[in-house]
Amino acid sequence: MPVDVGLVHVGERIRKNDMHVELGGPSVEKKFELVKVRKPGEIRDGAITVVGPDLSAMEEGGKFPLGILVEIAGPQLEEDIEGVIERRIHEYTNYVEGFMHLNQRYDIWVRVSKKAYAKGLTSLTHVGKVLIDLLKNELPIIEKIQVTFFTDKEAISARYAEAMASYEARDARARGLTDDDVDVFYGCALCQSFAPSHVCVITPQRYANCGAISWFDGRAAARIDPKGPIFPISKGECVDPVKGEYTGINESARKRSLGTVSRIFLYSAFACPHTSCGCFEGIAFYIPEVEGFGIVMRGYGDVTVNGLPFSTMADSTAGGRQVDGFHGISLEYLRSPRFLAADGGYARVVWMPAELKEQMRAFIPTDLFSRIATEKDVQTVSELRDFLSGKSHPVTERWKAEELVPAEETNGAVQVFSGGDFPVMAGGFKIIFKNAKITADRVIIEPIRPKKPGEGA
Ligand code: SF4
Repeated sequence: MPVDVGLVHVGERIRKNDMHVELGGPSVEKKFELVKVRKPGEIRDGAITVVGPDLSAMEEGGKFPLGILVEIAGPQLEEDIEGVIERRIHEYTNYVEGFMHLNQRYDIWVRVSKKAYAKGLTSLTHVGKVLIDLLKNELPIIEKIQVTFFTDKEAISARYAEAMASYEARDARARGLTDDDVDVFYGCALCQSFAPSHVCVITPQRYANCGAISWFDGRAAARIDPKGPIFPISKGECVDPVKGEYTGINESARKRSLGTVSRIFLYSAFACPHTSCGCFEGIAFYIPEVEGFGIVMRGYGDVTVNGLPFSTMADSTAGGRQVDGFHGISLEYLRSPRFLAADGGYARVVWMPAELKEQMRAFIPTDLFSRIATEKDVQTVSELRDFLSGKSHPVTERWKAEELVPAEETNGAVQVFSGGDFPVMAGGFKIIFKNAKITADRVIIEPIRPKKPGEGA
């Protein structure tokens, strides 16, 4: 290997100015990574193939499509392990110095650094070698493995449908099961290298934040790799069936986060929400002005109705924290009957990108579908308010209830904004307010301009 390989490189970020090339990512429409179990005769063990131009043939600074297909065989391998092994692609490729892998499935985003390229990381076959060695080493039930990288657009298009069909088949399998049907949930600590206090709790009705691991995947992973990052969590007592609070989950969270997180509500974005690492597929964000939630997915390139793009809200949400009203979610969780159930579910959703809303049509209650605004209906929060009033959206009932509360009872406090850990710079010190709730009569924001010569203090 021309570059170093090890856990120490996980979490390495490659900025635009430092990248040699980018593969996948927001500017590429079709990209995927997929693991498939095959018959032994269908696999040339150890083979690594690049279909399309390799790194050495790519122009510096360019953006290229990417597909990663890992095919495995072994007598103990079953289809239900594919999703779990697929998630290891993210982990193991990030071990490679100067190779950054983000996200999962149809959303992968890779960058190779200039430094690593100069050191000799000029072929994807190096990355394929790392994948093969680590997967075989960590999961001895893999007897044969071959890896194919696609960088040719046509070749990716030909495989894309198989990848999307595989993801859908995995997700659909878990849809019939409810949280009440099982005694054990699963936890995943794979993202602790990025977000040390984060553990995903994977239940039949709350898919992992990254959208890559279902309850079935969790069960299979814990079985084949009992010392691995995915582990069983006994439910224990159900403290609150609406919020989804269980003693077993709380105990596990306390232990795995070393005391940072002690309570988790599975189905709420408030008070003790599930933590958010950085791999979430989307964000449910609270819009206090209308008392409802907006939903935005990672691929949405525009600003949302609150004026913020996905990337800005992702910074406020990620890091393994529990941030009131900013909630990392998977696409599959949007299909769950328990989606934000404690907060009102879809009756509390007020804005979604049009494409996502259409994608979720079958899962949004029919009477609510036309009452949820998209970017085609409104651009600002005040337009959103008018839209919701006009459609008699259920959240408007909350406005009426609030109007009935006399002003002195609210003590003049109109809104609460919570930003988790909220840093303030003052006099050379950084002051961090942890879970502080602050109310103010007025907030004045003024630009700081350098003083002109002769201006007083
Ligand atoms: S997002 Fe959750 S389930 Fe997915 S890899 Fe990270 S910790 Fe595991």
